[in-house]
Amino acid sequence: METTKKNLREPIVCVLGHVDHGKTTLLDDIRGTTVAKKEAGGITQKIGATEIDKNTLETNIKNYFKNIQVTIPGLLFIDTPGHVAFANMRSMGGALADIAILVIDVNEGLKPQTIESIDVLKKYKTPFIIAANKIDMIPYFVSSKDTSFKETLSKQRKEYVDFLDEKIYKIINDLYVKGISSDRYDRITDFTKSFAIVPISAKLNIGVPDILMVLTGLAQRFLEEHIQFESKSTRGSVIEIKKEGSLGTTLDTILYQGVLHKGDKIALNTIAGPAVTKVKAIIATGKKGMVEKESIKSAAGIRILITDKLDVLSGTSIIAIKGSKTDAAFNELINESKPDIKLSENGITIKAEAIGSLEAIAYEMEQNKINVREAQIGDITKRDIINVSTLNNPLDRVIVGFNVNTSGDAKEAMETNNAKVISGNVIYSMIDDLTKWLEFKKNEIEEEKKNNKPVPSKLVIMPDYIFRAAKPVIVGIKVLSGRVKVGDKLINGKNKYAGTIKSLRDGDVNHQFADKGSELSCAIDGVTLNRQIFPDEDLYVDVPENVVKEMKDQDMDPDVKTTMEELIKIKRKDEQFWGF
Ligand code: GDP
Repeated sequence: METTKKNLREPIVCVLGHVDHGKTTLLDDIRGTTVAKKEAGGITQKIGATEIDKNTLETNIKNYFKNIQVTIPGLLFIDTPGHVAFANMRSMGGALADIAILVIDVNEGLKPQTIESIDVLKKYKTPFIIAANKIDMIPYFVSSKDTSFKETLSKQRKEYVDFLDEKIYKIINDLYVKGISSDRYDRITDFTKSFAIVPISAKLNIGVPDILMVLTGLAQRFLEEHIQFESKSTRGSVIEIKKEGSLGTTLDTILYQGVLHKGDKIALNTIAGPAVTKVKAIIATGKKGMVEKESIKSAAGIRILITDKLDVLSGTSIIAIKGSKTDAAFNELINESKPDIKLSENGITIKAEAIGSLEAIAYEMEQNKINVREAQIGDITKRDIINVSTLNNPLDRVIVGFNVNTSGDAKEAMETNNAKVISGNVIYSMIDDLTKWLEFKKNEIEEEKKNNKPVPSKLVIMPDYIFRAAKPVIVGIKVLSGRVKVGDKLINGKNKYAGTIKSLRDGDVNHQFADKGSELSCAIDGVTLNRQIFPDEDLYVDVPENVVKEMKDQDMDPDVKTTMEELIKIKRKDEQFWGF
């Protein structure tokens, strides 16, 4: 009997979560359900996604949950797990996945990539369920495998059940803090109000029927509009591109709308902009491996061979063109290839391999209050290095590259240019590195500023070391207190200008500053010896009033303090309240 009342396509499902929480193992379990037991070891080569057809879905669910009617034609699981993959697979600006599974290690709880996953799921408004994995690691576990959670639970002792509850409550609480209300799926009465938590052990293949049941139930109840089969237009999302020698290019694609035929004209996004090409062959995974098809209906994971060698942008759509709809398709593709990122006048530069990950990184930067000045798709090039190294603000001279390469000449350019590159494939650790670098840079700038600030200092012109009387004056000096620096303005005891220090030299070595006790030769600009300044005369560094005010509350060297007090006295002869 036909139970598919409406014309629906398979909902597309993506698996997300923190590293090592069990995404790959869960996907292996799911793949296992599609192959007969005896060939379970020999999983056929896959293209981007694993389909569980309606019959398999029904059998798996009905073994444990008698009352569920399956009306969807199946489920299509994207084989590449992770929130970045999720963000990079798009359908017309939104997420390609209709629903997601967020895997959380029940013993570890929420981790950085769990939070990042929640962020992207929220951003794309994608409904999701939570798989609380590794329930076999909870104390008092009575062994079980290849079954439902429901069945497993019925075998457990009270101690285990209590421990499990404790762990689940912890997750419920932590999710609540993130604005997500959730509960164990078998305790939920209204699925519009709570996110479902399904306890599983991916390793022992426990809980997959429960997951399939909850996904099916949610899709049938809440996603019907979303997963209507559309025959009017044909679209897919390109997830992997390979150039195959003289053959052309292959595009691993998730077809999410309509029917694609061999020979169809398709529009797609390339690095150079939208382009049109032709479908030379369609390859799909059949029961016995890869097969060539004349046509294929969505949803499906397929490999498309195109005749042209194109630099197709991963994560963007292909649109089959019928008649003369090229312009409309191109407009849509252009829109889709523009990242939705708020740029600031100042800030860092980010680069990523695809639009979705670029947006995901920009979002995490925003969460960390780091401004983004430039966001681009592609590898880090020499031009990028040159561009950032010439920026005014030293804090902007950094490029964060996600899943991209740094070209050889860019690496060379880094050695001679003042630019930092932080690259990797884990967003949160890159943000960690960036935050540390920014902090370090800020301190360095602060330190530099401090070093450039004039310090209350006193020096004397040594009468036995007069080398030149003017343009500039060159004399031996002794620093009596503080730190004298190149660029410091000097005054005498009567608050009269006494020249500007042009250089400090000790033998053949130039110095930028000289501390108390140093004796060295000093070039003084702007004055003439024996006119404005005199041998044996004490001179002071002319410290601006605001610097003195700032210093008053700070700890300082006792003789710097004395010099500061002398300076204040000198200044107050002309200005009664100087430095107050
Ligand atoms: P991913 O990084 O999220 O894809 O995590 P994997 O699926 O690669 O799993 C990480 C590790 O956890 C592997 O060593 C798995 O064998 C282990 N693992 C996954 N699921 C379970 C589970 O349910 N129980 C236990 N004990 N280990 C698990």
